[in-house]
Amino acid sequence: MTEKLFYQDGYMKTFTATVLSCEQSGEDYKVVLDRTAFFPEGGGQSGDIGMLNEIQVFDTKEKEGLIYHYTKAPLSEGTKVDGVLDWEERFVRMQQHSGEHIVSGLVNKLYGYDNVGFHLGKEDVTMDFNGVITKEQMKEIEYLANEAVFKNIDIQTICPSEEELKKMAYRSKIEIDGQVRIIKIEGYDCCACCAPHMRKTGEIGLIKLTNLQNYKGGVRISMLSGFRALADYSEKETSVKNIAVSFSAKEHEVCDVVEHLKEEKLSLKQEIAKLQMQLLSYKAKDIPEGEKAVCLMERNLSGNEPRELVNLVLERSAGICAVFAGDDENGYRYVIGSKTVDTREAAKLMNEKFHGRGGGKPEMVQGSVTGNGEEIYNYFICNFS
Ligand SMILES: [Zn+2]
Repeated sequence: MTEKLFYQDGYMKTFTATVLSCEQSGEDYKVVLDRTAFFPEGGGQSGDIGMLNEIQVFDTKEKEGLIYHYTKAPLSEGTKVDGVLDWEERFVRMQQHSGEHIVSGLVNKLYGYDNVGFHLGKEDVTMDFNGVITKEQMKEIEYLANEAVFKNIDIQTICPSEEELKKMAYRSKIEIDGQVRIIKIEGYDCCACCAPHMRKTGEIGLIKLTNLQNYKGGVRISMLSGFRALADYSEKETSVKNIAVSFSAKEHEVCDVVEHLKEEKLSLKQEIAKLQMQLLSYKAKDIPEGEKAVCLMERNLSGNEPRELVNLVLERSAGICAVFAGDDENGYRYVIGSKTVDTREAAKLMNEKFHGRGGGKPEMVQGSVTGNGEEIYNYFICNFS
């Protein structure tokens, strides 16, 4: 068994130890020490990272009481090592984990839901609860969780006897064999947990619940605590400041500014559509009346504009009209219309020649073809003039 120094002192940043074994595992090495302050992956928290002498530890895992330090280089058996944790990372993880206990404890206390999934990721923390929580309730939980932080309560680690444990009300995700370790935050939470925690709630810093989504009949809540919440604040502050500067608006008004922009964009779009229709009618008026076949190759038509153009041309022409919208590279969407001939024949002919597809009613067909625009134009005019 590796001696777990992180249980003696969760704030231990450096330690000395002796290498008991080092085995190769793929391209990596698994180093076992007689004692370690590296916390192995567990309880939703990732394994610690840091250094053993000059060698980097990129993960730590526990198996049957032995703690494995994952490295890219070997360490010989019997070597004395100085272990140094990446304390910045560990501290941030503890901030998230202790914050999670407060939030899960509050949810349990207020709504009776259990935390059925906890993931402490590189970006944020997610907590899954087996009941539905509304946005308003989440805001309330966030407020109360921060109140717990500002009260600066002790975060106690208790190792109760079996008898004491029987009398104790505590949250637990799994059945635990052997000694149960309880993390207690008076008035907020009491939960079985194997991970190191902050000493006092004040060290967690701000607790920010950032997202709420429905998940497996319950909800998934995302959270940022401490330095991560600070980084998130800074990032959001920069965004809001930049938007405010671009629009010469006050920071608290950026939402109104964006809303106004959206409305403006919508009315501009409607204006463009109106102008586009006008443009199409001028285009149609350019075509002499009574043409037998008209073929228009258009680059910038979208939506139902090709159909509109066909209809406008048909009002002036007694024959058949085709509009091909697109380009050689991306292919052409077509609409062919006529008041006198069956356009399905035309569609069939064009589809066959230019690897196309599509069809419709005798008076109008729609589809797509690929090929050279000039060839498409010539083929259509040759066949229908
Ligand atoms: Zn925990």
